[in-house]
Amino acid sequence: MAMEEEVFSHDLLIVGAGLAGMRAAIAAGEGLDVAIVSKLHPVRSHSGAAQGGIAASLGNSDEEDSWETHMFDTVKGSDYLGDQDAIEMMVKDAPGVIYELEHMGCVFTRMDDGRVAQRRFGGHSKPRACFAADWTGHTILQVLYEQIMKRRVRVYEEWYMVSLIVRDNVCRGIVAYDIDQGKLCVIRAKAVLFATGGYGRAFKITSNAHANSGDGIIATYRAGIPLEDMEFVQFHPTGLWRQGILVSEGARGEGAYILNNDGERFMTNYAPEMMELAPRDLTSRAIQTEINEGRGIGGQDYVYIDLRHLGKERILERLPQIHDLAYDFTGVDCFEEPIPIQPTAHYSMGGIPCTMEGQVTCDPGNTPIKGFFAAGECSCVSVHGANRLGTNSLLEAVVFGRRAGTAASEYAKGEVLPELPDDANQPAREEIEWVLNNQGSESVMAIKDDLQTSMMENCGIFRTEEQLKSQLATISKLRERFSKVKIDDKGRRFNTDLIGALELSRLLEFSDIIVTGAVARQECRGSHYRTDHPKRDDENWLKHTLAYRTDDGPRLEYKPVTITTYQPEERKY
Ligand SMILES: Cc1cc2nc3c(=O)[nH]c(=O)nc-3n(C[C@H](O)[C@H](O)[C@H](O)COP(=O)(O)OP(=O)(O)OC[C@H]3O[C@@H](n4cnc5c(N)ncnc54)[C@H](O)[C@@H]3O)c2cc1C
Repeated sequence: MAMEEEVFSHDLLIVGAGLAGMRAAIAAGEGLDVAIVSKLHPVRSHSGAAQGGIAASLGNSDEEDSWETHMFDTVKGSDYLGDQDAIEMMVKDAPGVIYELEHMGCVFTRMDDGRVAQRRFGGHSKPRACFAADWTGHTILQVLYEQIMKRRVRVYEEWYMVSLIVRDNVCRGIVAYDIDQGKLCVIRAKAVLFATGGYGRAFKITSNAHANSGDGIIATYRAGIPLEDMEFVQFHPTGLWRQGILVSEGARGEGAYILNNDGERFMTNYAPEMMELAPRDLTSRAIQTEINEGRGIGGQDYVYIDLRHLGKERILERLPQIHDLAYDFTGVDCFEEPIPIQPTAHYSMGGIPCTMEGQVTCDPGNTPIKGFFAAGECSCVSVHGANRLGTNSLLEAVVFGRRAGTAASEYAKGEVLPELPDDANQPAREEIEWVLNNQGSESVMAIKDDLQTSMMENCGIFRTEEQLKSQLATISKLRERFSKVKIDDKGRRFNTDLIGALELSRLLEFSDIIVTGAVARQECRGSHYRTDHPKRDDENWLKHTLAYRTDDGPRLEYKPVTITTYQPEERKY
């Protein structure tokens, strides 16, 4: 049976309705026909799970804070892989975007004198996280959703973007599957902006939503555009044991301790100055080392985060969600007991290479793909380099969502609708028909579970060449198994089996890129820690990875890091 098809047209088409996508839609302003495609209802985007805060050097809690300090902390946190021109732009924009969100209706937590409260976060030398208790992402997401409703932005919700149409270095639109109707549609646009979020679902223990399956990243890659710095995946130090669900760094920002089996605040041995508020790469490694050396609680693979000394009142005022999540998922009442935690895969530093205006580029010389923009976690600007600091990601999504939205709409205003190639929907159509009709014996769940478990074991916090090479072989076997996948539901409408299989194919493909980049990079930098090459090597590796798709797997090239102000130094905390 042939799939029905429809073709739609818009001036600017945004894929993704998290903070980056919705902020971009708002930036597009009046007079332009803007639409958003999202596989989820907008307020179910992963941005809504963000708890702890959004960074800006407002200087409310410490008037000595400045954009310069925020910039230095971010550059140092990135292990000097972040591009300093982009970081400077982000931190300078930060206070303005906070006030703008506030004027849109975002209710940030206050100090007694009425100004926006700010708390400490890992790797930041000043308290600069603005927050709405521990519902920061949720609060901002709701406010942005109100704004796009007010502007009557068309939202194709529960539509799954399958592929991107690029010909002759010009982006012409996307192919999407209407999940409810089971229809494949082509959406033509003068400009397309991807804000499709991160790729943290390749790991067994993860804080990420199921939807974070790297769809936008892989559609880009399959369209012949390289991906940047994919080997850098952040592990957050404090996920609920065995669940990965996040205990926000906001908890440590409010003063929580991390303890091993001896009741020792062991961060004193790893980061004597910043202690629990050292950056995430360092803190995750410290926890994992304690566990590996037998100082986990009862010798097991977890340690404690202890909030008890903060007191019930402060926990309920500042961290109510943490209390509820810990109680609901582990049965621990954090007023009375410490919470069992372990590091959890959390954030994707790598992604679609783009300029500070969100313009996607396709080589080390930054040649643009006309009409194609990206922002938020799916993009790599790169402001986080090898390790993101907490609260800089919501900031990135809003700052660069706004910038990319503005640039994409300016571009669209000067263009006519591009011609569509005749075979625009062919790859997507073939992929969907294949999944629906394939007769095999393998299940999506089993392959996914094996991928996530093996990625965790072989490409996690500590990595060696041997482990990584064996992981490449494992992925190749898993891809072979995927060629024999069979789904039970053969229907067209709301076929979650079909979407699950499409997502798995993307997880397998980008895991291969993560591991290939990690094998090649023979050094330690930020989140990428090679025990067989235990030093940072600026001479050979102070450069961004670009991974191109070929029939023989990813081919790697490199491009320079932009250093404007701070020369690389040893990182100490
Ligand atoms: C539990 C948790 C807590 C966090 N806490 C913080 C914090 O306190 N501070 C901070 O700075 N950062 C935090 N982060 C990180 C931060 O939340 C994210 O990096 C940021 O919100 C990403 O925003 P985004 O708009 O890029 O993507 P998302 O919010 O992930 O949105 C992605 C969008 O893309 C759409 N999409 C994806 N694929 C497709 C497809 N194939 N077809 C159609 N639509 C598609 C989805 O429907 C969704 O709307 C946290 C992350 C997690 C997981």
